[in-house]
Amino acid sequence: MKEVKYVFVTGGVTSSLGKGIISASLAKLLQSRGYSVTIQKLDPYINVDPGTLNPYEHGECYVTLDGAETDLDLGHYERFLNVPTSQANNVTSGRIYQSVIEKERRGDYLGKTVQVIPHITDEIKRRIKLVSSGDKFDIVITEIGGTVGDIESLPYIESVRQMKWELGSQNCVVIHLTLVPFLSATGESKTKPTQHSVKELLEEGIQPDILVLRTQRSLNPEIKKKVALFCNVEENAVVESVDVSTIYEVPVKMLAEKLDQTVLRKLGLPVETDPPLTEWREFLTRLKNPKHIVKVALVGKYVELPDAYKSISESFIHSGSMNECDVDVEYIHSEEITEKNVSERLKSFDGILVAPGFGSRGIEGKISTARFSRENNIPYLGICLGMQCAVIEFARNVLNLNGAHSTEIDHKTKYPVIDLMEEQKSIIDKGGTMRLGGYKCIISKNSRSYEAYGKTEIVERHRHRYEFNDKYFDDFMKNGMIPVGINPESNLVEIIEIVDHKWFVGVQFHPEYSSTVIKPHPLFVGFIKACIEKKIK
Ligand code: GLN
Repeated sequence: MKEVKYVFVTGGVTSSLGKGIISASLAKLLQSRGYSVTIQKLDPYINVDPGTLNPYEHGECYVTLDGAETDLDLGHYERFLNVPTSQANNVTSGRIYQSVIEKERRGDYLGKTVQVIPHITDEIKRRIKLVSSGDKFDIVITEIGGTVGDIESLPYIESVRQMKWELGSQNCVVIHLTLVPFLSATGESKTKPTQHSVKELLEEGIQPDILVLRTQRSLNPEIKKKVALFCNVEENAVVESVDVSTIYEVPVKMLAEKLDQTVLRKLGLPVETDPPLTEWREFLTRLKNPKHIVKVALVGKYVELPDAYKSISESFIHSGSMNECDVDVEYIHSEEITEKNVSERLKSFDGILVAPGFGSRGIEGKISTARFSRENNIPYLGICLGMQCAVIEFARNVLNLNGAHSTEIDHKTKYPVIDLMEEQKSIIDKGGTMRLGGYKCIISKNSRSYEAYGKTEIVERHRHRYEFNDKYFDDFMKNGMIPVGINPESNLVEIIEIVDHKWFVGVQFHPEYSSTVIKPHPLFVGFIKACIEKKIK
């Protein structure tokens, strides 16, 4: 068995410092140096998984290929590394406690008192080690959610302390992220919050090895020196992370700051020449020097918190760069769209994306949006609910099935063009009961989707309950909305397209989850290309 090295990333001072981006950037650099790396996120909340969390509070729920509903940070990990994550990459306190309690009920603890230390911490350590089982990885980067000092994160910090003690500092490195605020009144960057935060970590038994200081403006060397001295960290292990215009610049910045070199040195691994990051830099160059610009409307109901559509907006960045195009995305609340104002609201856009979602709120706005795109030949990408809305619209206005709907919204509809599969009808639980994760799909050759993918067999990730009702298959076919993508095992419809349209694609799956910097998703690339063409004409 090879020896796995562990890097832990903690955060202090405030939340939202970007631990996920720093972890992903470090992983990218280590990967470019030839190491196999994975990233894990430990979330201190009690939910068993983020699947039941409100997107307003927690942002998007990201779905892995193996069907786990996870934290959106896993999306960053995949986008940076271009390697799929899995269920093991995201663990919550809920899941930890659930397995400890299950063991207790089974009598596995032989009558012992079950306690946070050692039982919960042992389970946390087991989960950390589990990601690298099977010798898959040289280095595991584990990001601890929340902020040091939170009651909830204590067992995690304690587990990190124990791992460091057990495996030795050559095998475990702790990176602590803090904020160095700039006070404009005095014109100074302040280190006190960092000092306090490190003190807090020390109280919990951990001396950080590396500090990453988030800051609005570049710090002078004196500040770094001061932080090093006061926080008992080597001077060259104090790294600054200045605000940048795109998260994709962070790996390049961290390379310049030698974060990867410092980590390797501390782990006793050889430091060779810097990775050139050629593809990555090319992506950035294209991103920053667009030849085109298109305006895309993202119609959804969680628009107040852009994190709710994180993977979609990142997919636009990847596919935009691929097309040398600046994609200007406007978030539009579907509740604000009506039959009457739809033209006024949407006519200035080069493309329209109708977002995934659940429940009835704003659904009629999405249906009107689909109609507007169809009738006005505006490139349309409908994702999951966005595909279902296009189907409902087509049924109502082209097939004249008055009142056609999805049974999710109107369970008494006369024309249930979107419906539950028979075997799902008895399920009432909400958590983890959807069609989740990767499923195969076979694409017909004569289609926009085939043009985009360049192949007939694909696997895409799902997160939904309802399906295209194949009772209506022939009706749709005959009238020009073609199911061009079909699941070979269940025959379920995965992709629909309108033949007489510039580019109208609805997908039951979520292409946004698998778009990465190095491999932008083909459907997004195709969609943006269609938007550029529409604009030019
Ligand atoms: N609410 C729909 C369903 O469950 C669509 C889900 C989604 O858009 N992810 O099928």
